[in-house]
Amino acid sequence: ANGLHTWFELRQWGFLRVGAVRAVDDVSFTLARGEAVAFVGESGCGKSSLVRTLLGLHRPTLGEVRFEGVSLAGLKGAALKAYRARVGYVQQDPFGALPPFLDVRRILAEPLKVHGVKDRAERERRIRAALEEVRLTPVEEVLGKFPHMLSGGQQQRVVIARALILEPALVIADEPVSMLDASVRVEILELLRNIQHRRGLTLAFVTHDLATVRHYAERIFVLYAGKVVESAPVEDLLDAPQHPYTRALLAALSDPDAANATRLREVPGGEPPSLIDPPAGCRFHPRCSRAMEGLCDRELPPDFTPRPGHSVACWLHEPLSDDSGHPMTLDGRRTAG
Ligand code: SF4
Ligand code: MG
Repeated sequence: ANGLHTWFELRQWGFLRVGAVRAVDDVSFTLARGEAVAFVGESGCGKSSLVRTLLGLHRPTLGEVRFEGVSLAGLKGAALKAYRARVGYVQQDPFGALPPFLDVRRILAEPLKVHGVKDRAERERRIRAALEEVRLTPVEEVLGKFPHMLSGGQQQRVVIARALILEPALVIADEPVSMLDASVRVEILELLRNIQHRRGLTLAFVTHDLATVRHYAERIFVLYAGKVVESAPVEDLLDAPQHPYTRALLAALSDPDAANATRLREVPGGEPPSLIDPPAGCRFHPRCSRAMEGLCDRELPPDFTPRPGHSVACWLHEPLSDDSGHPMTLDGRRTAG
């Protein structure tokens, strides 16, 4: 029923849905138009594979990505090109993402040319508008600059301008500020949020930084070993995390010793598992202090819904019925004695 509901949403609104890939295993979600979401996880959790899949750079072995009602799998040639114009990409390393021998004008002209904007004056107009939008001014000066002449924050503004210039519906930002100086991180995140609001864009952040997601996403997906283990509205997720992994991430953040460590590497119990040969059952069970023998190490937990909009893949949340017939969680049963 849940799956049908998802499909209904897809048809109704034109959403984006991701199916199974090797590193991204049976991940399924929809993004609503105009919302900002964050995918959070440690390195090696499948974030980059997810981004590549969403961008249509690699094809899922199973499952599919649907965008505005159309499956990416069927897209070739001109249709694939059109899809790429609808999805902007903001890379993690702005300097690496920009061609070193082109000035800003030519960097921004490139996608316009590739996508058939033949009129030179029209290109110039759109390039200038994009630079104004990312507040890289004075535009006249910036146009002739090469990437190495710009600061990291300015380079990232060029990358954002390039991601926006074809007027995408969705922008995917892969750790967009992790390589920038702390002093410009907030500016860049606020810029993205402002542009998102103004344009009604869908924004998908990929990050390991759970500490700052509150400021820029409305909904969070927590990834572990290629799976979404928990998803919820941001306040709900941060204030009442349900999955033992999410709780461990948040506990690591509030640990004073880890106060400056925004990277999510302090979760006890060792490293995330290999994605090639993941553990049976719940993939978190080897590190989970609440693991139940005979269940967690054998059966993959499905998604449970402890409350509306909040989904968690953990056996602790399997609904049980108490004597009154009300569903409750294993957590609840334990406290009830
Ligand atoms: Fe821990 Fe079991 Fe929940 Fe996995 S399903 S997170 S092992 S309690
Ligand atoms: Mg990465």
